[in-house]
Amino acid sequence: MKFVDEYRDADAAAQLTRLIHRTVSRPWTIMEICGGQTHTIVKSGLEQLLPHQITLVHGPGCPVCVTPVSKIDTAVALAKRPEVIFCSFGDMLRVPGSAQSLLDAKAEGADVRMVYSPLDALRIAKLNPDREVVFFAVGFETTAPGNAMAVWLAGREGVANFSMLVSHVLVPPAIEAILSAPECRVQAFLAAGHVCTVMGYEEYEPIAERYRVPIVVTGFEPLDLLEGIRMAVAQLETGRAIVENQYARSVQREGNRTAQERIREVFEVSSREWRGIGEIPQSGLRLRQRYSLWDAEQKFRMAVVSVPESSDCQAGLVLRGLLKPHECPAFGKQCTPQRPLGAPMVSSEGACAAYYQYGKS
Ligand code: SF4
Repeated sequence: MKFVDEYRDADAAAQLTRLIHRTVSRPWTIMEICGGQTHTIVKSGLEQLLPHQITLVHGPGCPVCVTPVSKIDTAVALAKRPEVIFCSFGDMLRVPGSAQSLLDAKAEGADVRMVYSPLDALRIAKLNPDREVVFFAVGFETTAPGNAMAVWLAGREGVANFSMLVSHVLVPPAIEAILSAPECRVQAFLAAGHVCTVMGYEEYEPIAERYRVPIVVTGFEPLDLLEGIRMAVAQLETGRAIVENQYARSVQREGNRTAQERIREVFEVSSREWRGIGEIPQSGLRLRQRYSLWDAEQKFRMAVVSVPESSDCQAGLVLRGLLKPHECPAFGKQCTPQRPLGAPMVSSEGACAAYYQYGKS
């Protein structure tokens, strides 16, 4: 299959692996940001191919995993209102809040619907003018253009019974938060190719320079990741710290300006709480005041309540690369995909789910 098979070729993987072995002279810790990349690494057994000096740790780039408990609780409260049809991507439905998940609310009769796009939710709103349709807008810069487009269209077409519960997060402030922490052990990053397809990688250049950390924009197939690791290791071994683009077949330095304009039209940057990590300044998006009619929290006057995380779940350490999923005492015991204690075990992009699914223990 074009753009798939050629990035899974075993001979090419062996060649890249040999190059990495030849280059490495000392221990290095590299973090891949995106949960999709984590799944490829674990599923393909890439870590087993690498020299023992390289440690891969898994980052916070799983949107479901970093959506705070308080936001799930708000989603459940909205979903239980009789006038509301609550629409969400499927991944969010099983994520536990402090008392219930959206799926629990659905089992009790709430009108919770799984959609594949915010535009599906907008269509449901148009088909149900006597109901209120709320879409759960979670994700990184990748989902922001589509969500912005849905709100923009709702405004243009005057769809007043549509709104969004927004929990958008941004990658560069999260990288800075990880690097600023005294316990940080990450020495290089593989940045997420799809985020950079939208946003480009200009924002990463000052970070690489300030923290003296190599950042390689990387794709999602096994060869993409091996090549990204090879490029990161080459920088580490030679003392360079710049942004390089492994995923050039999709990413340009300036990104997709049209998508960025749509995001800026509808959203503005705000501080945001990350599940398991806490508040990171200027790390999220919220609807601009001129789109407040479509802001579910304002429309339904939802109080902002801070809810503590379960102390049994170590997701905060996993998401900052300080703990591998299988090192969590609950992994595979009290915490399984069937009975998850935390979001990284629920999400299809969660690191704990990857380790459980592909037998890393
Ligand atoms: S294994 Fe479960 S309890 Fe442990 S960090 Fe992952 S999600 Fe949380």
